[in-house]
Amino acid sequence: MTAMPDTTPQTSTLLHAPVIDWFGVHARDLPWRRPEAGPWGVMVSEFMLQQTPVSRVLPMYEQWLARWPRPADLAAEPPGEAVRAWGRLGYPRRALRLHAAATAITERHGGEVPDDHAKLLALPGVGEYTAAAVASFAYGRRHAVLDTNVRRVFARAVSGTQYPPNATTAAERRLARALLPEDEAVAARWAAATMELGALVCTARTPGCARCPIAGECAWLAAGSPEHDGPPRRGQTYAGTDRQVRGKLLAVLREAVAPVPQAALDAVWHEPVQRARALDGLVADGLVEPLADGLYRLPLT
Ligand code: SF4
Repeated sequence: MTAMPDTTPQTSTLLHAPVIDWFGVHARDLPWRRPEAGPWGVMVSEFMLQQTPVSRVLPMYEQWLARWPRPADLAAEPPGEAVRAWGRLGYPRRALRLHAAATAITERHGGEVPDDHAKLLALPGVGEYTAAAVASFAYGRRHAVLDTNVRRVFARAVSGTQYPPNATTAAERRLARALLPEDEAVAARWAAATMELGALVCTARTPGCARCPIAGECAWLAAGSPEHDGPPRRGQTYAGTDRQVRGKLLAVLREAVAPVPQAALDAVWHEPVQRARALDGLVADGLVEPLADGLYRLPLT
């Protein structure tokens, strides 16, 4: 049986100050962390950063905020424009979800991103992670913000395992809550700091333990950095997948100023069954709108 991680208040406190102090020195100057980003900027960044590295998000984020500085600006345009502007960030359903959230913010909250976790969670397209991240990063609220970086830091530093489980577990949520500092402002800082530590130091393949502020407290390091012995970790294949075909089909529609014929879509992928499946999936997801005359376009409604 695996030993329960030590999350006594004393252990938690031993981790808080070093991680938060390290963050104060090493945090990257990212545009969504600046005061001028505001809650809307934080929300946009959180949608874009899911499964996407910072380097790819930065230019899209700047363009997005320049075009749609408030939720109402985005809500005033068709959802297809959000898909178009999403460019090659990947997982384009996020663009539709962000558009739907902007519309709900405009209609239900007078155009202001709500500051309350429950209200955020009630927005379309906003899940537990995003609600916690926006409440914490934009409004300084006390929430456990569990992204892959934070989960990896906790798995190693506290649970003593090289990698967290493939999907977030109830035990991880409990651990994250147990580790949250009591003070609201400190808890918000801790959430951002642990995420940054996972992104910059406690990285997936080559953790920089020699420069880690909590190396002295790390359970995994203390155990001799044992190799992962759990289920195989999920790979991120892309070439040849339906995701790749969907990306190619959407690229045609993004670049078109008018509806495109089927032939233009057929030209981007050689295998007809997979191509049809990918297109059907895009239509079912609301990312592509089929028209009666055999033409396709990005969604207008
Ligand atoms: S000591 Fe190494 S493994 Fe432990 S938290 Fe720091 S970087 Fe991660």
